[in-house]
Amino acid sequence: MEEPQDRPPLGRLQRPTLADDGGIVRYDGQMTTGTHEGIDRERLVAQLEGLAGWSGDRDAVRVVRAPGRVNLIGEYTDFNDGYVLPAAIDLEIAIALAPTDDGRATLTLAATGETAAVEIDDVGVAAGDWTDYVAGTAREMARAGQPVRGFRGLLVSTLPEGSGLSSSAALELASAWALSPAGGPAVTPLEMARVAQRAENEYVGVRCGLMDQFASACGVAGSAVMLDCRTLEHRAVALPPELVICVIHSGVPRTLVSSAYNERRADCERAVAAVRLQEPGVRALRDIDLEMLARATDLDRVAEMRARHIIEENDRVLETIDALAAHDLARVGELFAASHASLRDLFQVSCPELDLLVEISAGTPGVMAARMTGAGFGGCIVALAMPDAVDDLWARIERDYPARTSRTPRLWQVRAVAGASELSV
Ligand code: ADP
Ligand code: MG
Repeated sequence: MEEPQDRPPLGRLQRPTLADDGGIVRYDGQMTTGTHEGIDRERLVAQLEGLAGWSGDRDAVRVVRAPGRVNLIGEYTDFNDGYVLPAAIDLEIAIALAPTDDGRATLTLAATGETAAVEIDDVGVAAGDWTDYVAGTAREMARAGQPVRGFRGLLVSTLPEGSGLSSSAALELASAWALSPAGGPAVTPLEMARVAQRAENEYVGVRCGLMDQFASACGVAGSAVMLDCRTLEHRAVALPPELVICVIHSGVPRTLVSSAYNERRADCERAVAAVRLQEPGVRALRDIDLEMLARATDLDRVAEMRARHIIEENDRVLETIDALAAHDLARVGELFAASHASLRDLFQVSCPELDLLVEISAGTPGVMAARMTGAGFGGCIVALAMPDAVDDLWARIERDYPARTSRTPRLWQVRAVAGASELSV
């Protein structure tokens, strides 16, 4: 069970802030406002200058940051050419750095003091650790013809690792900005997201869709961002300003994810192949509707269930966008509930702990919508709540969830923030 040492007492909202003691990230339960408030630029620069052997020039120091993300709706649709609706969130990775001319990206993790270097012109084979995300990004940027430069840097993070909030994409995007000349990558945020996705697919070896890198690169403050994973058309979808985004971690590590992910991909491919026997023009589940699915003769029950989830989930993304525009939060709540039920019953990637968190959340007055988010089998749920409902939600989860699951939940109240950027002085 995941149980961080620095976990505050239950019953307090967790907000990311940097601690006074050497920049190690802790959650102090303070409710703070403002964007990127978890990153204190001056303190980070001072810490960088305090590193052993530091000889950089203060005027040359840059601070870059990249956010994690929470997917509001559109789960498992990305590799089916469908729609997703994530928001970049203010749980982030920041790097303070000074450019170097030694051809190396040398990074110290503030949380552990560990330092590692990557030869950016010849990254070699993947090492199987966090440096792969830096090395893979450097390699793919160079392959795409983007300028890359070495640096000496210090990394701080307020984003939990391996929890389904895309710390890997945040690390890739923060690395991309650190490796780029001042002002950031020479390509559009979407193109940068695609390069970072290639780093994760081809160098790290994780078969992910574009959503995580897209959200971390293209996030918009106060909005979710919709991506059409086929056409790559994308746009901001304003969130009602009064809504609070709550992310609740089940305390269940996502151990089954990678094998189940590959199985689900295969199930979806089988469904496409079966429909294609009648409809040769079909390329992906995106092209299929429920009638076409019903006409397929050579379709097994499992593939049919998976396909139904994807077809209906794509519709739910578009309906959610409409409901948000119309300020129809009751409808958003219905769509989130239907998405969760479908992920539980048809796509079969939920677990009892996620179901319970959704049940408690949806039953709390003032919580407008709740569903599991990310790949499932543990990890997080997302809930949209009115501000005065959040204390009650946390109290209910504190009271009921550990008693019924023996798991320790973690709750973050987050804000939708802009994609990766450089913090100005
Ligand atoms: P997720 O993207 O959902 O957080 P992943 O398994 O895709 O989970 O990525 C987690 C990995 O990213 C970690 O195991 C680590 O290698 C790397 N990583 C993320 N954040 C950090 C960090 N702050 N410091 C070092 N490595 C990190
Ligand atoms: Mg990841």
